[in-house]
Amino acid sequence: MQTVTEDLRSGPDQAVIDRAGAVLRRGGLVAFPTETVYGLGADALDADAAAKIYAAKGRPSDNPLIIHIADWEAIGRIVSEIPESAKRLAEAFWPGPLTMILPKSEAVPLTTTGGLSTVAVRMPNHEIARALIRAGGGYIAAPSANTSGRPSPTEASHVAEDLDGAIDMIIDGGSVQIGLESTIVDLTDKVPTILRPGYINQEMLEAVLGTVAVDAALCGENVRPKAPGMKYRHYAPKAELFIVEGTRRQVRVRIDELARKAVQEGKKPGIIGTDESKEYYTCGLVKSIGTRADEITISRHLYSILREFDHSDISVIYSESFETPHMGQAIMNRLLKAAGHQVIKG
Ligand code: AMP
Ligand code: MG
Repeated sequence: MQTVTEDLRSGPDQAVIDRAGAVLRRGGLVAFPTETVYGLGADALDADAAAKIYAAKGRPSDNPLIIHIADWEAIGRIVSEIPESAKRLAEAFWPGPLTMILPKSEAVPLTTTGGLSTVAVRMPNHEIARALIRAGGGYIAAPSANTSGRPSPTEASHVAEDLDGAIDMIIDGGSVQIGLESTIVDLTDKVPTILRPGYINQEMLEAVLGTVAVDAALCGENVRPKAPGMKYRHYAPKAELFIVEGTRRQVRVRIDELARKAVQEGKKPGIIGTDESKEYYTCGLVKSIGTRADEITISRHLYSILREFDHSDISVIYSESFETPHMGQAIMNRLLKAAGHQVIKG
């Protein structure tokens, strides 16, 4: 299949959006930017179209898809019940990086929900995404547009790297804003529960809903995660990755020691630091992930930095830890997964 790339970096162009919408309406696959990561879209209410997503990504069929809508009124068709909590969250955070799990309606095929009786719904806050959702029929299933097991794409070139030749179209909208997937909150239990941390954090959800729980699987307990996708080992870079924890100073000193030792052993170390710390390190390939003064720069670059290291001949990576105030939980959730939970105390 020939994958067409459309350049919308300077903004939505209705003619392109209409062409992309037509591809979706006839059951095709279109990758597009959202504020979190790039999504791989298909008509969520067409089981055959949704099935193509699993095939293109190599995604396990029990890992359900999030349905993206562009208008609040659209939700009625895909859920069987709208709890008060969903209305309040939508008012506070939609359009935005929040996904809600709700009981599904008959209209939603089981292929889309990985066989579950619940459905994940999100309204993204990205002009191109919302225009495309409307043009494509209003209900677009869109998991991250990467091959399963690779880091989620945060720019169009990442999508092409993984899916060129396997999908109909890529819409290039430039680099994304947040860089980590949406927060997922399950509203089908008595207590709303976070299944995946993201930009909308626990404190923000609790300000709207009162008590919000966190899935036990996210707290390190050895139980099955409620979001089926969270059980898969997400992504391991080619080089072994270690996260070093401690005070800012302890971390820098320890990483520098580890990198020097690696060089002595004939290895090629890589380091993930920040704008504030990068000058400190005396050896290894040092990459700044962003600045601690603006933590969204850290979330935005996490996946691209992991992809960059894969293109280098680095054999071991040492990363600082990023327990930042707002997004620390989400950033460390993805980084720890990538490191296979290998942590060194500084
Ligand atoms: P992605 O779109 O690639 O970010 O992946 C979607 C995530 O949402 C995966 O972790 C899924 O397991 C999760 N998810 C989607 N639908 C449901 C659902 N009905 N119940 C629980 N988790 C879900
Ligand atoms: Mg994904």
